[in-house]
Amino acid sequence: MEIEIATIGGYEEVGRQMTAVRAGEDIVIFDMGLNLSKVLIHDNVETEKMHSLDLIDMGAIPDDRVMSELEGDVQAIIPTHGHLDHIAAIPKLAHRYDAPIVATPFTIELVRQQIQDEGKFQVDNDLVKMNAGATMAIGDSEQVELEFVNVTHSVIDAINPVLHTPEGAVVYGLDKRMDHSPVIGDPIDMDRFREIGREDNGVLCYIEDCTNAGRKGRTPSESVARKHLHDVMRSVEDYDGGIVATTFSSHIARVKSLVEFAEEIGRQPVLLGRSMEKYSGTAERLDFVDFPGDLGMYGHRKSVDRTFKRIMKEGKENYLPIVTGHQGEPRAMLTRMGRGETPYELDDGDKVIFSARVIPEPTNEGQRYQSEQLLRMQGARIYDDIHVSGHLREEGHYTMLDALEPQNVIPAHQNLQGFSPYVDLCRSQGYKLDRDLHVTENGNVIQLVE
Ligand SMILES: [Zn+2]
Repeated sequence: MEIEIATIGGYEEVGRQMTAVRAGEDIVIFDMGLNLSKVLIHDNVETEKMHSLDLIDMGAIPDDRVMSELEGDVQAIIPTHGHLDHIAAIPKLAHRYDAPIVATPFTIELVRQQIQDEGKFQVDNDLVKMNAGATMAIGDSEQVELEFVNVTHSVIDAINPVLHTPEGAVVYGLDKRMDHSPVIGDPIDMDRFREIGREDNGVLCYIEDCTNAGRKGRTPSESVARKHLHDVMRSVEDYDGGIVATTFSSHIARVKSLVEFAEEIGRQPVLLGRSMEKYSGTAERLDFVDFPGDLGMYGHRKSVDRTFKRIMKEGKENYLPIVTGHQGEPRAMLTRMGRGETPYELDDGDKVIFSARVIPEPTNEGQRYQSEQLLRMQGARIYDDIHVSGHLREEGHYTMLDALEPQNVIPAHQNLQGFSPYVDLCRSQGYKLDRDLHVTENGNVIQLVE
């Protein structure tokens, strides 16, 4: 059976991930993501109303025109988890394919919300839920099967999809950490990866996320970030002024820890900001997390301001606002608080807890610096980097190569510079460039089996 891989997006950047695999007549697409930094760099760009081709020209969404080089039918579009760099181009591209979107329940719900917000295209693809551990036949050949393997990442319900073919498995390995004690959900299913590596035809190809490949050792578990956060929160237990926390709103495990520790130190947690309300509300509705019954979640400007006024009236020392703005995004809640645009007044000595790391990218770094300075000018004390990454470091990469023993490896989720530590790591394990280690760019097709 002919096997081809089209590397469509995310092979020259972090963002706008998209990869297609053709096995005989059948094609599956993994991820359709957005490169948010290409959008935010422009003032007031509203992507909801924009045409796909304009967004492709901006470098914001994958240039999927290379799909015409693949001879076969797209049978499924498979977003691997709910981060925007994996799902947010779906409203702009999915309607071009007569295929269902298949994902885990939390991811499907986020995709549904993305499609609802779309203002330009009618997206009628079926939305199909499939849980980690489940499989699905692809096409009519009865020889190709899709499987979801449970992985751990900084968003819940993440999977690595595996396409089983007569030539071996294609494992799409983006976005995971090897977490054996996650705060929400099951540990990564390493047993299954090892089994797949030992199956008759083995692993034909492993597509891997190189984000932290240059960092030594292993990525700590989310339970380590939770401990760190607990230590910080207990240390400010006796403070009788304002404490504010921020984190990735899609990071439900972290939000859960913040909510629990707020209560432990006698403060009422409240989630503020549109995306806080959206992600936590969705996770609670789908029963991924059990928040206290009286936990307030407010997204709209008016209800947020009303909540801030109530907090100021009843005393800041009774509350922990958990807000958006961990990267210093100009329109997010914490940045607005820093600029004095909300009714919440910061005083000398108030604490601001960043349970996040700055995404190392000049725009983020600049915005975050500005936000922190604005907060400091009002006397706030900053706690930062209370966080663990969602991506594998060196030791995780060695473990995956050991488990899967792939015949071919394709580095992804970085630019050329970001690939190089992973390329070195693979070469140390016997892989050779242009033989079984394929460094590529956006818009290429790699033929693995002719
Ligand atoms: Zn991710």
